Amino acid sequence: MWMTTLARCALPTMLKRSSSVSACHFSRIGGRPELTVATSPTLSLYPTWWQLRGHGTQAPARMTSNPLGASTGVRHARALDQERQLEVEWEDGGQSLYPYTWLRDNCQCPVCTLQSAGARSLQLSQLDIHTGVDQVHVTDSSKVSILWPDHHTSEFDPEWLKKRCFSPAARQALQEELFLNERVYWDSELQIPTANFEEVLHDDKAALDWLLALRRVGIVYLKGASAEQGQVARLSQRIGFLRLTFYGHTFQVQDKPQANNLAYTSGDLNLHTDYPALHYPPGVQFLHCLRQADDGGESEVVDGFHMAERLRREDPEAFRTLSSLHIDFTDTGADYCDFMVQSKNRIIDVDSDGHVVRINFNNATRDSVLDLPLHQVQPFYSSLQAYVQLMTRPENMLTYKMEAGDIVTFNNWRLLHGRKSYMCHPGCVRHLEGGYLDWDVVMSCLRVLRKSVHGES
Ligand SMILES: [Zn+2]
Repeated sequence: MWMTTLARCALPTMLKRSSSVSACHFSRIGGRPELTVATSPTLSLYPTWWQLRGHGTQAPARMTSNPLGASTGVRHARALDQERQLEVEWEDGGQSLYPYTWLRDNCQCPVCTLQSAGARSLQLSQLDIHTGVDQVHVTDSSKVSILWPDHHTSEFDPEWLKKRCFSPAARQALQEELFLNERVYWDSELQIPTANFEEVLHDDKAALDWLLALRRVGIVYLKGASAEQGQVARLSQRIGFLRLTFYGHTFQVQDKPQANNLAYTSGDLNLHTDYPALHYPPGVQFLHCLRQADDGGESEVVDGFHMAERLRREDPEAFRTLSSLHIDFTDTGADYCDFMVQSKNRIIDVDSDGHVVRINFNNATRDSVLDLPLHQVQPFYSSLQAYVQLMTRPENMLTYKMEAGDIVTFNNWRLLHGRKSYMCHPGCVRHLEGGYLDWDVVMSCLRVLRKSVHGES
C-alpha cells in the first residue's frame, strides 16, 4: 500500500517513530480510523515522517476513542446512592462512573433536549443538583434507563455513555478526538505535505487529509491552482468563510508605494506570525502565488512550537519570561478602513497546563510602548533574542520558493514565516494573494468531513 505524505501525517505517534515502512500496515489496528487515512494516488509521495532527521513529537500517548475496550455492551448498571453515582459495568469488564447530577442534566429525552438542534432545553433552575435515583435497569436494547424521584425517565445509549466516561484516559481520548492537539515537530528537513488544489476542492477525502495534515504538521502545500486572483476565496469556501481583517477579505502581497505593512515591500521579512496586534490573531493563513520574482523572494518557515519546546529545555528562564510577560503590539494605518490596533500578548502563549498554544511575534508591530517594570526590560530582550536566534539557526528553518499556482496553507498560531528580499523591476512583479481563517472554522470543517468520510459522530 502506498502511503501519501498526507496519510503519514495521520499516523499514530508510535508508528511515526518506527524506522520500518511496514509500520504503515499496522496503522489501522492501533490508530483510530478517522486518523488513519488511505491513499490518494494523485498526491505526491515523499520520504516518510520517521525518516526525517531531527523531528520529534511531544504529544500525549495515543489512546483509542474507546479506551475501555471495543465492546460497548452493558453487563450491569447500578445506583451507588452514597456516592450519588451510577456505576456501569461493561461487557468487556471495564467500569465507568457517572454522577447523578450530570446524568439528570444530560437527559436525552425530547423534553430535556431540543433534538432538532442537539441542544439542552432543560434549564439549570429546573435541575435538582442533589437528585437521587429511584430505579436503574438495562433495557432490552441495552440502554441504561433511570427513573428519577420526580417520575421523569431518562434512557442513555451505551456508546454515548461510554464516550463520556469520566476516567482520565477516556477524557483524554475524547478531547484528542475533538481537538486533535497532537503535533509532529519538524525542522529544516521537513518535506512539506503536498496535495492537489482541485482535488482538495472536490474530494472530501482529499480535503480531510489536507486539514488533518494542516492540524498535525502545521503546513501543507497545494499545487495546481490557476495563477489568477480568487483562488484563496474558493479555498476558503471549501472550509466555510474567510476571516475579515483590516487588510480586507483577502490581501495582495506586492511591492506597493507608501506601504502600510512591511510585507508590502520587496525587502527582507524576518520570521513572524501574522497579526499579534490582535488579541485573537487569525489561526490559519493561505498564501497563493500569482507571480514569483526571478531573483529572491524565497519563503522561510519555522516550527514555533518545536522551537518553544527547545527553548524550554535549553534556556528555561527565557521560556518562562516569554511565556509570562504580556508584550504590547500595535498596528496603525488605513486599508479596509482606518485602523489603530493595540494588543497585549505573550510571545509564547501557554495554557493553564503549560502547553504552548500560540506564538505571537512580529518584530515590525512590536510596540515601542513596553508595559514592563524597569527591571524586566533587559531580561525580556535577552529572552526574545535567545528565541529568535534559536529559530533562525539553519538547521531549524525551512526554505522554499513558491511558483505561480502554488498555495501554501499554514497554522499562523504555530509557524513563523518570512521572506527573502527580491529584485523588483517593471514587468516582473511578485504577487501573492493571502487570506485568513479562524481555527474554529477550520476545525468545524474537519469534524464535518471526518463524519462524512468515516461516518463518525
Ligand atoms: Zn428528560
